[in-house]
Amino acid sequence: MTTITEPSRKVTVVRDVDVAVVGAGVSGLFAALGAAKQGAKTILIDRFGQPGGNMGPGGFILSSLGPGEGKTHHVIDYAGVCREFVLRLEEKLLPGLYVSELQRDKGTRGIFEYPSYSSTISYLAIKMCEELSVELMLSVYAGDPIMDDKTVKGVFVETKSGRLAIRSKVLIDATGDASLAERSGAPVQHKSATPEEGKKISNWCGWTREEFTHWNDGGIAVIIAGVDYERYENFLNQPTELTEADIRFREELQHFHPGSDFQDSLVPILRQAWQSGRYKIKQTIDDNFYMMIHRKLIPLEYGLMQMVVEAGGEFDLGNWQHVSKLESSLRKYAFETVEFYRERIPGFERARVMWTSAYLGARSSVGIVGEYYLTFDDFLKGARFDDVLFRSYVARRQGKGSPEGCDLPYRMLLPKQIDGMLVAGRGASFERRGHDSPPRPRFSMMMLGEAAGRAAALSIENKVTPRTLPVRKLQKVLLKEGFFLGETDRLKELDLV
Ligand SMILES: Cc1cc2nc3c(=O)[nH]c(=O)nc-3n(C[C@H](O)[C@H](O)[C@H](O)COP(=O)(O)OP(=O)(O)OC[C@H]3O[C@@H](n4cnc5c(N)ncnc54)[C@H](O)[C@@H]3O)c2cc1C
Repeated sequence: MTTITEPSRKVTVVRDVDVAVVGAGVSGLFAALGAAKQGAKTILIDRFGQPGGNMGPGGFILSSLGPGEGKTHHVIDYAGVCREFVLRLEEKLLPGLYVSELQRDKGTRGIFEYPSYSSTISYLAIKMCEELSVELMLSVYAGDPIMDDKTVKGVFVETKSGRLAIRSKVLIDATGDASLAERSGAPVQHKSATPEEGKKISNWCGWTREEFTHWNDGGIAVIIAGVDYERYENFLNQPTELTEADIRFREELQHFHPGSDFQDSLVPILRQAWQSGRYKIKQTIDDNFYMMIHRKLIPLEYGLMQMVVEAGGEFDLGNWQHVSKLESSLRKYAFETVEFYRERIPGFERARVMWTSAYLGARSSVGIVGEYYLTFDDFLKGARFDDVLFRSYVARRQGKGSPEGCDLPYRMLLPKQIDGMLVAGRGASFERRGHDSPPRPRFSMMMLGEAAGRAAALSIENKVTPRTLPVRKLQKVLLKEGFFLGETDRLKELDLV
């Protein structure tokens, strides 16, 4: 490979902070708010102008997939600043709708209205950052961490004013892809679990495909305008007799994507379009990954509908070529799908693409192999760790995993070999295989973020590094904030009460 040597240069240090968080997404936002609540001077950096990550410009809302069977288990509710965020969202900003389990009992309505949710989430993110004096550095791309041997001392960023340096006492990598940890030299993995490893908690959402050695899935959200719901509904509800070829066709699609159990009336149209070469509801992007339209088009309001273009296979979000190919293919495909629907599906005669989410998200992606690597087995057996941050009941929701939940340990945020850095969110240290990764849902990612932020601030306050932080100090703070670390006996064992 041809290389070129970059000349060394002096870079202006524009900020000197306690905590710098890179990624204002599902985990990074709460890392920054948590650090600030804990008294740290904090800066929050994101490559987009809109904070919120996957639930902001990513267009996938906070969603009803909250902490779990929340009605009977207060212990799995949101805590700390995450809870404040969710309650403000539900009670003040989106009255009449719920986005978590918290409001379900109040008879409110949960809908998947991605674009208004995501914009509202970004608005509240900006507002809470302002209130807690978190400085936002938006439309800024973070590059290399600033290293002093094996210790991270800040981060270089690319801005419209050129390359700048942010000096920090602790850096939190919340990029979702462990990008900064990887550049710091910490061990990371790009590949997900194999089918054999994945089988342990396998197919808890039913989306991973065993014929792929490694598996990732993700997608973009799309809003379609100008749909006549009534005409579309009538079409969907009309009795349709399927031929054997139709049934086979649907089964084949379903094999690739469980979200593609298309309604009877759609199947012959999709099959004929496939066979004539006019339109394919599943398309290959590269040798080992593909995209597909999720069957469920969700009616919103005002003639708007939401569609999800999903990608699946062995793609890697730490590979710029994969990212670029996916971003362009999925967007092109969204337009081609609506064009086809306009031509063939009643109710779509005046339909058009109104919006596609700003970036592609994936559920597996790159992660550190940190001081503890949380496995599927841990979720199955309900592992307990002395450095528990909170207990996750996510696996139990799907009837998988221990009914008593699994502890998420502090060590899963600590990269190996490197100090001065914590990795929150999807980039943390856990076994993954697309949908199947139990810590993946937003609730866990938000709470992990907040725990990382508070840990960073406490390290500074106690004049230690994240690696040497006495974890009991962090646990006491989390406990006070309402995080569930275990029943009373367990807390006694840990000397926390
Ligand atoms: C398609 C899809 C649907 C999902 N649906 C659900 C669901 O229904 N319910 C659920 O609970 N969970 C769902 N998830 C999972 C959940 O959203 C993710 O696990 C969560 O977003 C992970 O949070 P994160 O903070 O790690 O990443 P993100 O939310 O993606 O945030 C990463 C942030 O980092 C920024 N960033 C990255 N690199 C840089 C850089 N170099 N410089 C500056 N900024 C950078 C990005 O712009 C982004 O804002 C879904 C995920 C996907 C992909």
